[in-house]
Amino acid sequence: MTAIHTASATTATATIEPHDAGSPTPHIRIAIVGSGFAGMGLAIKLRQEGRDDFLVFERGEDVGGTWRDNTYPGCQCDVPSNLYSFSFAPNPDWTHTYATQPEIRTYLQECADRFGIRPHIRFGHRVIDARWNDTDTRWHIDTSEGSFTADLVVVGAGPLSDPSIPEIPGAASFTGTSFHTARWDHDHELTGERIAVIGTGASAIQAVPAIQPIVEHLTLFQRTPPWVLPHPGRDVPESKRRRYRRFPITQKIDRAFTYVVRELSVIAFTKRPEFMEAPEREGIKHMERAVADPELRAKLRPTFSLGCKRVLLSDKWYPAIAQPNVDVVTESIREITPEGVVTADGVEYPVDTIIWATGFHVTDIPAAQHVWNAKGENLLHEITDGDGMYLGTTAPGFPNLFVMVGPNTGLGHSSIVYMIESQLNYILDAIHQIDDRGLATVTVRGGPARDYNAEMQRGLEGTIWNSGCASWYLDANGRNQTLWPTFTWKFRARTRRFDIANYDFVTQRERQLIASQRSSGTSTTRDTAAVIGG
Ligand code: NAP
Repeated sequence: MTAIHTASATTATATIEPHDAGSPTPHIRIAIVGSGFAGMGLAIKLRQEGRDDFLVFERGEDVGGTWRDNTYPGCQCDVPSNLYSFSFAPNPDWTHTYATQPEIRTYLQECADRFGIRPHIRFGHRVIDARWNDTDTRWHIDTSEGSFTADLVVVGAGPLSDPSIPEIPGAASFTGTSFHTARWDHDHELTGERIAVIGTGASAIQAVPAIQPIVEHLTLFQRTPPWVLPHPGRDVPESKRRRYRRFPITQKIDRAFTYVVRELSVIAFTKRPEFMEAPEREGIKHMERAVADPELRAKLRPTFSLGCKRVLLSDKWYPAIAQPNVDVVTESIREITPEGVVTADGVEYPVDTIIWATGFHVTDIPAAQHVWNAKGENLLHEITDGDGMYLGTTAPGFPNLFVMVGPNTGLGHSSIVYMIESQLNYILDAIHQIDDRGLATVTVRGGPARDYNAEMQRGLEGTIWNSGCASWYLDANGRNQTLWPTFTWKFRARTRRFDIANYDFVTQRERQLIASQRSSGTSTTRDTAAVIGG
């Protein structure tokens, strides 16, 4: 790969202890789940430190996470690529300021090769569950390809990994083809077909313009009209790419400029909603320039404040849905029949193919549902009904566990890769401190987690994201556990160092003492919690 400038990396195989202390289960120091931006970012950082004591469990057959899975036509990042990429691996070869999915996927594949992490990835290993065991102070991980134990687990399966398809009566009876945008069926030919697209979010506004010209008819089922603004993206001329290659500092400056502009926009989302009035006017004009029909205009006019849901960017969306072969249906869906979709007013729309553009399981955090502590409690329970996670990264009661892109680390205004790199700093420093201090376990205390989550909710009060629209930022109780409420540099500052003062810890010596007391039967009520330092 020529595109990515990094320190050179040597390839190495992971250190696994196949038969540790009489256990037949392979043991690793650090288990990482997922090889998208998050899991791969950590793997790269560990390799750069010369470590080979980690494994990445990846359910797919390649790296890339959501950028491997979302192959729908038109898929493109809505964050500028100079910012939506690792700061330590700039890519001077982006051909567009907002890269398309194939380019981002290639970028991630090239990162995996360049930094030599593929030997550390176990592809086709779906993590079924991970359970903490207090007796051997290890994580016990069951994957689809066998069991492992690990001292530390880092969950890097992001919130956009599991597609969400609503349960609509009769869906199973449909005799045509159906698939989700994140599982696009490229073997299925859409040309000349009657298509139903359900949903009008970030994925739909990209996929619909790509397929509208080839289908016979497209019925778009819209529950909420989104705000769609003109797309500011443009091709990156070869001269600029040459300049980025020759003078990497120029790309860094462009990245910094994009970062600052995006950061400033958070003021409108959080403190000055009136700043959204001008973009709202622009959004309406944008729609009316492409759509002449007053009835269609009325259907497409958003009814919530711009920014409450993710702001969408497209120059192709409105022109596509104004075409004669597209109908926008705003009546809610009552059922699916073998032939098509029936709305609440009893009208049936016969179709050959249904495309679900209905988003992802975000707030129910599928990855958390597979993680259990020593008491048999589930991580999702801790997040939704317990003290919650600390810095969106660690959870009380779950020793040696780190979650990337956890609660309240999502963004409505900037690049999630920046947040991921902040978490990388934190997790790496945690690993260093665990090693240097000879710690067996670290577990965040309930108090800091409670305080932190109260602070998050206070910070989100009065923001546009909490202004009353229904969005995937909000959980079933209407609580926003998705977004970081302020400037991203504040998260960077808080995650610069692993703040062990907020953690309970057990040293290796204490752990050995407990183990020997247990085996000799002299242990009283002492357990790991009773000898914690702080
Ligand atoms: P989404 O934004 O959650 O949109 C889902 C759509 O499905 C919404 O329009 C929703 O309507 C609709 N829907 C859900 N259930 C429905 C039902 N029962 N009946 C009718 N409509 C229903 O999902 P997405 O478009 O896949 O995007 C998810 C996130 O992925 C984005 O916000 C973004 O973060 C990311 N993404 C990013 C890019 C990018 O360019 N970087 C591209 C695609 C996706 P309501 O609005 O009424 O809920």
